[in-house]
Amino acid sequence: MNETQTRLHKNFLKKISSKGTATTDTLREALSEVAPYFHISGVEVEIAGIGDMADRREILYQDPDAKKQGDPLQFAFPTKHQNEFVVHIQPADRPFSRDERDELEIYATECFFYNEIIFTNEQAEKSAMTQYLSGLPNAGAYVNQAIRLVMAGVPSDYSAFYFDIRGFSRINRKYGQMQGDGIIRRYGQKLTEFIKYNECVGHLGGDKFVAMIRQERKDAFIAFLSDVVIEIDKDGSPEKLHISATIGEWDIERDEIDPSDIIGRPSLGLSYAKSELGTTVVSVTDAALEKLNQKKTVLGTYRDALENDEFIVYYQPKVDSRGNILVGAEGLVRWMHDGEMVSPGVFIPPLEQNGDILLLDYYVLQRACADIRGWVKAGLEPVVISVNFSRKDLADRHLAENIFNIIEESGIDKSLIEIEVTETVDEEEHGTLTEFINSLCDLGIRTAIDDFGAGYSSLSTLREFRANTLKIDRSFINTDDFSWKDEVILTDIIHMAGELGMDVITEGVEREDQLALVNNAGCHVIQGFFYDRPLPKEEFEKRLMDKQY
Ligand code: C2E
Ligand code: MG
Ligand code: MG
Repeated sequence: MNETQTRLHKNFLKKISSKGTATTDTLREALSEVAPYFHISGVEVEIAGIGDMADRREILYQDPDAKKQGDPLQFAFPTKHQNEFVVHIQPADRPFSRDERDELEIYATECFFYNEIIFTNEQAEKSAMTQYLSGLPNAGAYVNQAIRLVMAGVPSDYSAFYFDIRGFSRINRKYGQMQGDGIIRRYGQKLTEFIKYNECVGHLGGDKFVAMIRQERKDAFIAFLSDVVIEIDKDGSPEKLHISATIGEWDIERDEIDPSDIIGRPSLGLSYAKSELGTTVVSVTDAALEKLNQKKTVLGTYRDALENDEFIVYYQPKVDSRGNILVGAEGLVRWMHDGEMVSPGVFIPPLEQNGDILLLDYYVLQRACADIRGWVKAGLEPVVISVNFSRKDLADRHLAENIFNIIEESGIDKSLIEIEVTETVDEEEHGTLTEFINSLCDLGIRTAIDDFGAGYSSLSTLREFRANTLKIDRSFINTDDFSWKDEVILTDIIHMAGELGMDVITEGVEREDQLALVNNAGCHVIQGFFYDRPLPKEEFEKRLMDKQY
């Protein structure tokens, strides 16, 4: 190697190693300084691909004005990633000398090594952005894409999805891990085929996927996800696999969004779909999320709240409309949480779901007994106070006995307490409920059937339950299309209950005309805003002093 060649070669090596990241452009630049010295008119590489890598030819250097002399020199290298990397070097105006060929082989080898570095870098970059199995964008890349999409248009044009394949572990077991991976890959491809240029999809790993879809295509996407058909090979014969997804979906309703919401919000929908309802699609709105959060707060702080006496019992008067006299009251629980009063509609359903309601119901009964005791002590003449027990409480085999003990321990007359329960459609529950009411009856404790006429109601209830009171639900009198037929039914129910020795009370009477209607039907004891709302204990005490309305 002569001096010039050595200098050229050093320069070439310096050039290709000077840039921080290897690119084909660097190689081109470095070659363009070497090529004229060797009388080269062009350098081309040919990469024979395997698998999903296509064959490609790439020009690394070309002098458009130069002539071509004879066949190009060819140097082939086996590569780690592709089959072969072949460098073609085309001589310009004269063939290469032997020395030059040796020298060019070194350059070709260096080009090859350099290309390997470029390729490895590209792969690393790609794998940092994609999920290795499906080749779809991974979480980070998806969020970037989604944010860009959404911000380029109007955010509220989009719905964000988070979904997974139903029964995927079963599919994996049935077809094996290898086929399972293939199924995920093809599922990913199907998703890619569905989405449009202004939508995007990502793969978070496993069977979990995310997508940002235009709202007008939301329903179509849900329908698509309910049945994705994938052809698989089952012991040599093709088989069609129908895949459905469990979906969490969030309609973006605002102009600014937090990147974490793009996956976070629909994922809440998905977990809700899976854990609570067993349904396929749950759309989360901001209002629904608020509710979910509330629920979490309830379950998280409930026991402390019980210990800290955050639960308070309000009393709603029951009035006999014949003389407008206070005849009883219902104890209704309220939660004073962080200075705000939370209504039972918010905290009772979650507590019922996890069975924690029992503690609260015992607590309310204890409070009511203590209040009655206080009134008696203060010389007030008490009225019957009813207390609600959830049907979920029936899981406690000793429910009736425990109620009896709480009343006994408080030292009040047990005839001053009435226990309210609602009916049930569930046959097994119906049996337990009957037993419970019978037990209380045997123990001398009054019971009432709450919300009669709301949803499920059956006349056999009247026959089977030994309850003392029938509480007619406000939905009965609250319908806009109350007809003469409803009136006949109401009148008959009230009459029948009376004949069977039950007391009848109607809840939710708000207006004079409703009162007249109920009175006409034969019911005179009323609980409703017409007379009073649920009152704090101190307010209710004033009603106790003078029972006249
Ligand atoms: P419920 O036992 O049927 O209680 C009657 C509900 O109707 C009360 O709602 C009461 O405020 C409301 N109400 C009464 N009169 C009127 C009226 O004229 N118009 C309207 N619009 N509403 C009226 P609240 O206090 O929000 O309680 C709701 C439900 O929560 C109760 O329905 C009961 O099922 C449950 N609940 C309340 N306290 C307890 C408790 O300590 N334990 C259990 N397990 N459930 C309770
Ligand atoms: Mg009630
Ligand atoms: Mg009721």
